[in-house]
Amino acid sequence: MATASPQQHDNAGESTSCPICGSSTRLHLRGLYDDRYGYPDAFDLYRCADCGHGVLDPLLDGPQLEKLYTAYYPRGGDPVDPRAMAANPATVAAWKSGPPTAPFLWVSGGARVLDVGCGVGISLAYLESIGCEAVGCEADANVAAIAKKYGLNIRIGLFDPADYEPHSFDYVTMAQVLEHTLDPVATLRSLQQVLKPSGKVVLSMPNAGGWLVKLLGRRWINWHVPYHLQHFTRKSLNEAAVRAGFVVEKTVVATPRPWVRLQVGHLLEFPRRGVPSPVWSPSGSRGGLASRVRQRALAELNRSRLFCVVAAVLDKFGAGDCLVVQLSIGKQAHVDRPAGT
Ligand SMILES: [Zn+2]
Repeated sequence: MATASPQQHDNAGESTSCPICGSSTRLHLRGLYDDRYGYPDAFDLYRCADCGHGVLDPLLDGPQLEKLYTAYYPRGGDPVDPRAMAANPATVAAWKSGPPTAPFLWVSGGARVLDVGCGVGISLAYLESIGCEAVGCEADANVAAIAKKYGLNIRIGLFDPADYEPHSFDYVTMAQVLEHTLDPVATLRSLQQVLKPSGKVVLSMPNAGGWLVKLLGRRWINWHVPYHLQHFTRKSLNEAAVRAGFVVEKTVVATPRPWVRLQVGHLLEFPRRGVPSPVWSPSGSRGGLASRVRQRALAELNRSRLFCVVAAVLDKFGAGDCLVVQLSIGKQAHVDRPAGT
């Protein structure tokens, strides 16, 4: 199913260019596969020699990605109540354990906010609870019913700036979204059309320059093949922001505490190619008694707070697993530009 991509690599491990900075890239990992939901094809991962950015090869095109998400990404089931989730003390405590890695936690009360890739709208419910006017954008059509049921303002479809009043938002947030895009610089640039001149963009994404990537290689939790197309380092994210006409105001490198438990579970249950993982997929097989023992041990370790200590150590050295940045519009970009330029 995988076909030609914007990044054309030859078979000798060389490539033409990094999608962010234009430098050459080299083969980093061969034969990565979907270790969450069992999509059967294998992919290679190339990294830029200059900015460290990683890019999947081949990249699936838009129609292929739509089919992929429809067939493999977990959908359906009982819809959650986003307002109840956002008001749940345990949920809020989890968000606020450790540095703030959720972009909506960076937003000031009373702002007008667009959350691109809002999922079921828990972020919107939280933002409304602090007095914001919150608008969401979500590609998953299943979310339409949830938005209607709980009265959330969510536009279904891929983000298109033409769908919104120009320069009308104080904030645009994108939580764990930019790494899914085919052209991240163009995506970032398009956000300027809906931001007020004084507006901010807050982004979060996995950190491909952290210590867990180096330690775990192909078993790093966030390769997330083939859904994550781009893998940012702090340097490549800064480069992408500047090329899109933004100024980087603030960066946090931190590890969401639940990610450590998921990473350890991922290592314990690492699946064969084409097989869904029980850590991620309801349809994945748990493999009987041995797997149940492993899951029990994992739960005990989680209760011991060992994983929080691991995350804190990574963060202390600036080597955590997630990047969060706040951007503002650069002076030279304070003009309207046609999309895609
Ligand atoms: Zn690069």
